[in-house]
Amino acid sequence: MSTTGQIIRCKAAVAWEAGKPLVMEEVEVAPPQKHEVRIKILFTSLCHTDVYFWEAKGQTPLFPRIFGHEAGGIVESVGEGVTDLHPGDHVLPIFTGECGDCPHCHSEESHMCDLLRINTERGGMIHDGESRFSINGKPIHHFLGTSTFSEYTVVHSGQVAKINPDAPLDKVCIVSCGLSTGLGATLNVAKPKKGQSVAIFGLGAVGLAAAEGARIAGASRIIGVDLNSQRFDQAKEFGVTEFVNPRDHDKPVQQVIAEMTNGGVDRSVECTGSVQAMIQAIECVHDGWGVAVLVGVPSKDDAFKTHPMNFLNERTLKGTFFGNYKPKTDIPGVEEKYMNKELELEKFITHTVPFSEINKAFDYMLKGESIRCIITMGA
Ligand code: NAD
Ligand code: ZN
Repeated sequence: MSTTGQIIRCKAAVAWEAGKPLVMEEVEVAPPQKHEVRIKILFTSLCHTDVYFWEAKGQTPLFPRIFGHEAGGIVESVGEGVTDLHPGDHVLPIFTGECGDCPHCHSEESHMCDLLRINTERGGMIHDGESRFSINGKPIHHFLGTSTFSEYTVVHSGQVAKINPDAPLDKVCIVSCGLSTGLGATLNVAKPKKGQSVAIFGLGAVGLAAAEGARIAGASRIIGVDLNSQRFDQAKEFGVTEFVNPRDHDKPVQQVIAEMTNGGVDRSVECTGSVQAMIQAIECVHDGWGVAVLVGVPSKDDAFKTHPMNFLNERTLKGTFFGNYKPKTDIPGVEEKYMNKELELEKFITHTVPFSEINKAFDYMLKGESIRCIITMGA
C-alpha cells in the first residue's frame, strides 16, 4: 500500500527538554512539500553536534525537537519539483545543502550554499517555516533540516545525496557527517604536503577522520592531542604516530608541540569545539607556512584571543563546515572511496544499539567511550 501523499505514523526519539533522555513517541510525519523528500531512515548515528544542542548549555534551546543528522535511508516519496530523486533511491541526508543555483553553488571555492547552509536555529522547513512532525497536532521542531532520530523524516532535496544502492547503509551513514567533515578538513582545507607534520586536536570520529586524511596525504608525523588518554590506543589504528595529553604537561600544549617539531607543525586541525584547543591549534603551527583549520562547533558566545603577530608571522587560520565537500556533488565520491576499499569505515564504528536504546548512544559519547555508535531503526 503506497504511503505517498499521506501522513505516516512512526516512532521518533523526541527531546522534550534540554539534557533529559529522549522519549520514544509515535509522531505524525506529513508528506513532503515543494522541493522536499520523505526518507525512511534505516541507520543513524550520534555526532557531538547533536549532543551540544540537546544539552543546550552554550546553544539556543529549541524544544521539543527531533535531533540527528548522520544517517542513511531510502526515499519513500518526493514533493513537487523534485526531479533528481525518486522513491527507492538510497540516500544520505546532510546537515548542509547545495541548491545548485546560488553564487556559492556556482563557485568551485565555496560550499556555503546561500539557501541551505547549516542553520542550527531553524526548527521548521525552508518552504513554509512549518514543521513536518507533530504529536496530536502539536508541532515538533526539526534539527539541521535532517532530524534523523525518526523512522521517517522530511528533508529539503538539496540536502540529500544519492548514493550507490550497493553501499551498506549501516556503514556509509557515517559519511553523512563525521567522516567527511574530518577527512575533508585535512584533504580539502589543511592540504598537508607529503612528508609534512599534522597535529589533530580531539580524537573523536571527526578528529580520527582528519587523521585518516593526513595518512592518505602522506603526512610523516600525525600528532594526536586529546584530554582523554583512552583515545590514544584507538588512534594508532588511524595512523596517529604520537600523542599529547595537555593534562600531562605543565607548559602550554603549543609549546610542547613546538619543541617536538622544531618550531611547530606544518598543519593542525582542531576537532574539539573547545576554544582553548582552537587557540592552541593556531599557535602550534610553524611560522612562515603553517595552516590551522577549525572544525569544532563553539558555544554561542565563544570568542578567542591570540596575538596578531601570530598571523603577521605568516600563519594561516581557516575554518570549515563539512570538510568543504559539496553535499550532493562530492559525497557519492567519498562513499565510493569506501566501496573501492580506499577508506575504512568499520574502525570508526565502536558501538551499535537498537533505536529503542538510543539514549545509550548519548551515554557512550558523554563518557568518551565511543567513536561512533550506530543506531539501528526498526529495532
Ligand atoms: P567527540 O566527542 O567524539 O570527540 C571530541 C574529542 O575532543 C574527545 O575525544 C574529547 O576528549 C576531545 N577534547 C575535548 N576538549 C578538548 C581539548 N580542550 N583539548 C583536546 N581534546 C579535547 O566529538 P566528534 O563527534 O568527533 O565531533 C568533534 C567536534 O566537531 C565537535 O565540536 C562537533 O560539534 C564538531 N563537528 C563539526 C562539524 C563541521 O562541519 N564543522 C561537523 C561535525 C562535527
Ligand atoms: Zn555532525
